[in-house]
Amino acid sequence: MGRIRRSAIRVEPRPTVAAVSRHCSRTGCAERATVTLTYQYGQAQVWLDDLSRERDPHAYDLCARHAGRLTVPQGWLLRDRRRALGEPSDLIAV
Ligand SMILES: [Zn+2]
Repeated sequence: MGRIRRSAIRVEPRPTVAAVSRHCSRTGCAERATVTLTYQYGQAQVWLDDLSRERDPHAYDLCARHAGRLTVPQGWLLRDRRRALGEPSDLIAV
């Protein structure tokens, strides 16, 4: 017998982080962050996106320089989803 579990709906207040400038998370780098890096260990994938509006505890903020230099471990896939880069060839529009 399947039981329906109702997930609690939580309404969280939207933090007003827009005014707070964020910096690259690389040690010793004081550049402004423009890119958000996220990764999925299980999928061996890394994504680069335009800086997310809200800070994600699982994401890293990077400056353009460090994002451009980023290398991923062997066997990992790096996907650059930044809009600034013109042709997202391997992306499916939603
Ligand atoms: Zn940096």
